[in-house]
Amino acid sequence: MAGEPQADCLFCKIVSGEVPATVVRETETTVAFRDINPQAPTHVLVVPKAHYPDVASLAAADPQITADVLTEAGKVAAEDKVDETGYRIVFNTGSGAGQTVWHAHAHVLGGRGLNWPPG
Ligand code: IMP
Repeated sequence: MAGEPQADCLFCKIVSGEVPATVVRETETTVAFRDINPQAPTHVLVVPKAHYPDVASLAAADPQITADVLTEAGKVAAEDKVDETGYRIVFNTGSGAGQTVWHAHAHVLGGRGLNWPPG
């Protein structure tokens, strides 16, 4: 069923605690943890606890949890003090855009200069 945990999903395993992660924030609907391969001094992933394969399917199914993910992304940026210098929230969507984990997640990137357009 939509939103249910998937046995073969890495981020579902992080949500459940089966796979360890450096968790920085948790709410009823979301978990935020540091990326294992950081691309910036602040690189945190914010995931919904519910399983949806990408942000588009999450937004279609549950606008409130989508908003929760974005709210948490802003709180992560504030806690890491990258909100004053600027930060980026990225949802890679589809393999052509670099998505490798099929559980919706926001990348929160900051603490260095961020070029535009992104690579
Ligand atoms: P994507 O490429 O947009 O799907 O992002 C997946 C992200 O998950 C990448 O930035 C990976 O470095 C990160 N990642 C993969 N495995 C782990 C893990 O076990 N803990 C934390 N981050 C991970």
